[in-house]
Amino acid sequence: MSATAPPPSMSAPLTTAADPPDISELFASVQSHTLLANLSFNNFATFLCRTKILKEDILQPQPYNVSIFCAPNFLPQSVKAFLAASLDMPLDVVDVLWSFTKDIVWELPSSAEASADDEDAFRTYGHELGLTKRTLYPPIKICANHECAAWQRGSLLKKEEPRRIVLFTHGEGAKPGWTVHLKCRVANFDEECNTNYQANYSVKGGLQTYY
Ligand SMILES: [Zn+2]
Repeated sequence: MSATAPPPSMSAPLTTAADPPDISELFASVQSHTLLANLSFNNFATFLCRTKILKEDILQPQPYNVSIFCAPNFLPQSVKAFLAASLDMPLDVVDVLWSFTKDIVWELPSSAEASADDEDAFRTYGHELGLTKRTLYPPIKICANHECAAWQRGSLLKKEEPRRIVLFTHGEGAKPGWTVHLKCRVANFDEECNTNYQANYSVKGGLQTYY
């Protein structure tokens, strides 16, 4: 990133991702930080893999004015606790590692490719924190109803309704998961929008719309 780039505006959320560091910048940052002196490559790679799986869980609890296009600066408490416990890492090491890798993670595709170790980690440490590698989120982050004040303001959908589900997978049979519905609660003149965004369709009034 250019050193002369103007600082981002405090009021308007950023609409493009920050440039991730290249490998030499990243390794120089890791090397210069005393907390990361004993970081193994395996823990580093696993950290990237698990944060990639949890991208939606990292984004959803952020304040409404955090951009959906950029990696958030702070991890939610549950995600931080899961990474610390499953990687046997102090919480402050998780924070430092996230600050160095967040823009790399944000560029990685959000697939739920997980190793057997990840699977065990989610079962042992994640489920009690409400984290699974299979959480279905709506693909929509901003209300799509053009008559709604939330769409006009571009503010994030924040009213979450998580539910436990069982996912039937081709490869691995029945697996525990969560589905998260996002409801638009913005008052539009004298009426609430109330559009409910599910994983693959939305409901407004009696009308279901598939994405
Ligand atoms: Zn709305």
